[in-house]
Amino acid sequence: MSNATGGGDMSTRHERRRYRREASGALLTYLVDIDDPLIAHPLLQRAAHNWCDGLSTPPHRECVTCGIQMSGRRYVGALLLTTPAIIKPTTASVFGVCRECWLIRDLSLEAIERKATEVLQPVVPNGRFEPLRDTQR
Ligand SMILES: [Zn+2]
Repeated sequence: MSNATGGGDMSTRHERRRYRREASGALLTYLVDIDDPLIAHPLLQRAAHNWCDGLSTPPHRECVTCGIQMSGRRYVGALLLTTPAIIKPTTASVFGVCRECWLIRDLSLEAIERKATEVLQPVVPNGRFEPLRDTQR
């Protein structure tokens, strides 16, 4: 078996910012660039894809930190993805961070996550995390 994956891929010119973090043992939070292919994370990849699919249809998604409406993928700088901290999570919630906040204001993960937590409060009535889903029916 010589299938060693992982480690530095030297073809990547600009480094991508990507964070992973465990919040109070209950949630895993990922903050990734909008262009991050998320190849090793099918769940996050799917969640991000679904989220981006809804970008062009009103009501437009808002930046989680500044509230600006993002009416297309090019306005999005990063995604904040959250999953339950279990072995095989099946749901992920997605928040968008606009380009301005991500690239120009250069907000930290802490700042972004704090805002996301505020936004999440209404859907966490008992302190238990519920996936935030835009289900169309
Ligand atoms: Zn913003």
